[in-house]
Amino acid sequence: MQAPYRQVHVRPECAPEAVLSHPSWKEGLRTLQNPAWPLLRLSALLFLTGPFDSLEGLAQELPSPLDIDGVTYQDPTKTLLDHLDCIQRLSEIKTGRPGVGLPVILSETGDILDPMEAALALIHQQALERELERANSLLCAPCGCALCCTGPSPGSRKLFFEIPLTGEECAIFPLPVIDTPKSRTLTSGDEPPLFFSGRPFYEGDPGIYRWSDGPSLILPVGTRCPLLEETCRCRIYSARPRVCRLPQVFSVVVEQDGGRFVRRNKLLAVWDCPYVRALTNEIETYARRNGLTVVYRENKGEHGSFMRHA
Ligand code: SF4
Ligand code: SF4
Repeated sequence: MQAPYRQVHVRPECAPEAVLSHPSWKEGLRTLQNPAWPLLRLSALLFLTGPFDSLEGLAQELPSPLDIDGVTYQDPTKTLLDHLDCIQRLSEIKTGRPGVGLPVILSETGDILDPMEAALALIHQQALERELERANSLLCAPCGCALCCTGPSPGSRKLFFEIPLTGEECAIFPLPVIDTPKSRTLTSGDEPPLFFSGRPFYEGDPGIYRWSDGPSLILPVGTRCPLLEETCRCRIYSARPRVCRLPQVFSVVVEQDGGRFVRRNKLLAVWDCPYVRALTNEIETYARRNGLTVVYRENKGEHGSFMRHA
């Protein structure tokens, strides 16, 4: 009898006409082609140097449509108002309280950014996280791909994939939780591996394991997440765990490096993802308009645990 949550899954390319003409794909593409950052950056400079008492007031003064760096904003007022929660920290600088609530952010050469540069870097990071999560959902949906929700393919050199979870997220999954004194002394990457039911943990069925560095969902070779439907959609999509929400193109404007924050100005794109491979030109243009450098890399690396670090 076939074990539960096992399947041979298909990983199609995002190229067929049905995908390219799908409304969700088109909307995702529009999101990439119209990044908010050029407008936010201009608004920040206008606000800090102009006679504006508030960002809301500035938003009402923006002409429409507005062309900036090759991006046409049909309704710049709405775009700016949609990002008010990100950009609001500029008010502290405008009112002469620079640095209030800001962490120390270093350049890659180790210099401390001044409060305005630090605030802009944080605004940029926050705006991109939101924008790219939205683009990811829109572009992923029509691809019919389940790569993020399945274990390695049979024949892969990888032994398992891992999705880190919070304690609360463990309860979402209808799976056994393996939480033993031994599991709590190990991580999933340790050698020799944790044995469970007489075999290495990654040779069993999908399960939740409680490691020394926190719990995770383990998907062995040829398995899928129990919440993945036959249609390649997630049964709990709107309530899916945090790691499942990470986009396949994600911003590293500011990175936490140990106890420090460092400005990186990078855009990481996960090459395994079919929509990333289909949209390299669009991703390059998106990065240029954001003043970022694109770095492509394989996500599901040799140890099957990249998602922990993504
Ligand atoms: S919870 Fe949903 S999004 Fe996350 S791995 Fe399972 S099916 Fe995929
Ligand atoms: S985000 Fe990309 S890799 Fe993940 S399931 Fe969607 S299309 Fe596949």
